[in-house]
Amino acid sequence: MKTLKYCPNCGQEIKGKENGSFPDSCENCGLNFKEREKKIEKLTRKAQRREVNYADFFQRVTAFFIDSIIISSLTWIVMSLIHIPIIIQDPIAFYTSFYYFWIAIFLNWVIGFFYCCLLEAYNNGQTIGKKILRICTLDENTFEVGSPEQYAITNLLKTSPFLLIDFIVGFLISDRDSDKILRYLQHLSKTVVIKIKS
Ligand SMILES: [Zn+2]
Repeated sequence: MKTLKYCPNCGQEIKGKENGSFPDSCENCGLNFKEREKKIEKLTRKAQRREVNYADFFQRVTAFFIDSIIISSLTWIVMSLIHIPIIIQDPIAFYTSFYYFWIAIFLNWVIGFFYCCLLEAYNNGQTIGKKILRICTLDENTFEVGSPEQYAITNLLKTSPFLLIDFIVGFLISDRDSDKILRYLQHLSKTVVIKIKS
């Protein structure tokens, strides 16, 4: 707590206690200094929150599009590497097979999950797409980088075919008018995507 010289309410000079500690309240008007400090902190936090600009839909979709290209390229490389003998034998059968298509979808999900989760947790809340678009995913209360668990939850379905369900449920539970419509899992992870101030 900051040491005050005069009471901010009545102007009474504040004398330290005999043991040198700061008094809890003003001896003239009774203003509680600790409560006052708490109130100020709360107001400051509120003001900071108002200054935060949430990323708009276009920025988020563009960042996701960039990340999707990177993730599917990685998937394609890994898929090709682990199936080299099959591809050499019969490339057309491989690239038109539904079986390998579903393996690729699953692999894309797993690679995408680790890509998003690790980059956001250890790169200031930013994937490569988010870095380019100057947005980041942060904890919704502190506006600091969240925990790895938070990023794991929010990215759980992001690169899976279930993303659409995540999005629809998020839309249905929101109040629809607000610009804070979030995917359900993002809502659950208590994270928000904000614009980085230049
Ligand atoms: Zn006072």
